[in-house]
Amino acid sequence: MSSDPQSQNLTDGFHLVIDALKLNGIKTIYGVPGIPITDLGRLAQAEGMRVISFRHEQHAGYAASIAGFLTQKPGICLTVSAPGFLNGLTALAHATTNCFPMILISGSSEREVVDLQQGDYEEMDQLAVAKSVCKSAFRVLHAQDIGIGVARAIRAACSGRPGGVYLDLPAKLFSQVMDAEAGKRSLVKVIDPSPAHIPSPESIARALALLKGAKRPLIILGKGAAYAQADADIRALVETSGIPYLPMSMAKGLLPDNHPLSAGAARSTVLKEADVVMLIGARLNWLLSHGKGKTWGAPGTQKFIHIDIDPKEMDSNIEIAAPVVGDIASAVAALLKGMGNAWTKPSTEWTSSIREKVESNVAKMAPRLQNNNVPMDFHGALGALKRIIAEQPDIILVNEGANTLDFARSIIDIYQPRKRLDVGTWGVMGIGMGYSIAAAIETGKPVLAVEGDSAFGFSGMEIETICRYKLPICIVVFNNGGIYRGTDKNPTGGADVAPTVFVKDARYDKMMEAFGGVGVQATSPDELSRAVKAALASGKPTLINAVIDENAGTESGRIGNLNPQSVVGKKA
Ligand code: ADP
Ligand code: MG
Repeated sequence: MSSDPQSQNLTDGFHLVIDALKLNGIKTIYGVPGIPITDLGRLAQAEGMRVISFRHEQHAGYAASIAGFLTQKPGICLTVSAPGFLNGLTALAHATTNCFPMILISGSSEREVVDLQQGDYEEMDQLAVAKSVCKSAFRVLHAQDIGIGVARAIRAACSGRPGGVYLDLPAKLFSQVMDAEAGKRSLVKVIDPSPAHIPSPESIARALALLKGAKRPLIILGKGAAYAQADADIRALVETSGIPYLPMSMAKGLLPDNHPLSAGAARSTVLKEADVVMLIGARLNWLLSHGKGKTWGAPGTQKFIHIDIDPKEMDSNIEIAAPVVGDIASAVAALLKGMGNAWTKPSTEWTSSIREKVESNVAKMAPRLQNNNVPMDFHGALGALKRIIAEQPDIILVNEGANTLDFARSIIDIYQPRKRLDVGTWGVMGIGMGYSIAAAIETGKPVLAVEGDSAFGFSGMEIETICRYKLPICIVVFNNGGIYRGTDKNPTGGADVAPTVFVKDARYDKMMEAFGGVGVQATSPDELSRAVKAALASGKPTLINAVIDENAGTESGRIGNLNPQSVVGKKA
């Protein structure tokens, strides 16, 4: 409880919020101070919480969202009212879309004035605005309800399909006082915030029967499987069943990418040819071409088993032959039990054809990853980083960009669970520095952020935050001078450069030096490799400006098909 000597017998809204969070094992707040929550941050720090102040709420929000993914506890983002709240809202929507538990706590203006629209300082009906992008939204008006409000927010964020929750705390609440003992009694410790959802025995039997009859089965692991922290059982399920698996990008490392059953490098083959596909914590959304079309086999030739905690996810895009509604840990354990010791593994015809495809694709790529070209291309630069992660597999890789994202996802092998954090379901740009900061803080591990130059720009100012907290983060900016490429021209010949082009020969490394971090310019894969190794050895905040050929890179990376292009009157 409060350690303020002037109020031994009293507590207030500020302290009740902090005590409620601490009681529920929440140790860190990510946010930006200001009216009316400045003192909340100060007091939280005084009460032993870690309070990480950012330069922009969006990045504090992304940090909170990935803290939720990494820890299964809601990440907390704290903001001021209206504009600060709105800045945090992108991240709240992102958390909800990605199924990460997060709570956005925002101060707000006085209800009486807001509701009569009388023009308060930063007036906005924040609760109404938040509702459409989160799982649940709550407002607390009385100090004695803070305990229950925080408890509801935690349970809503963590239970079932995790997601973002908004908690609205009007300015007046913070200074409300009440008897300290009564305050303490009003707090609620959430028991079992994410209760197991045991799948029905029938659904498990149906799934096993389908797998048993399969000739060319495939397992797809999604980030829900990574979130579930059922790592040993998931690995056992793949190995006991002998079924090849395909990891979605943030599920890479659940089993090491060089595992003999990994079909990662044979993605297009297995998606087309599998006859039974078991999805574990992965949605059949755009990232899997909605389970249909030319990525997949002919309609009707493939059957799906879908393990997910959200019953509404079943049949979202196509028919699911064996829906398994439950939490992944329970479902995987039940499947393993059902398989027993006498499970017949798929034919070697299927598994060795995949193996051959994987090996030939990997061998085809290998020489390109060894090149030491100047200027660097994506393969040379990422080859260097791939070798570093192979030597130090506990590094957390944060990755965003277009080409930088697509190439890194397929080139850099990941060996441990939850070591690859990226743009997620929306393919959003801007997660880089927020994710890196939270990854360093929540895990204590070194972080390597591989950033397109455009992607880096969204959160670049947070390098000051990284330097301020002296975090072991090494940022590599893949600098090809623009969005997709640095070579577009203004077709009119006018003075403005093309909309996709940045300043030539920009030195992002100098920004890092401005805040006392280490800045390095790297022009070859060898230089890049040396600089990253030095950064990891020193643990000092480092930014490496990796000069990439401005001609390298394609429009929209690998999702050019989603980018409508004019066929009428285009000059270039
Ligand atoms: P990816 O993008 O990697 O394919 P998605 O975000 O599309 O992954 O899917 C993750 C899925 O995992 C969501 O449908 C979510 O409901 C589910 N999920 C998250 N946590 C759990 C859990 N503990 N148990 C079961 N399903 C989960
Ligand atoms: Mg670029």
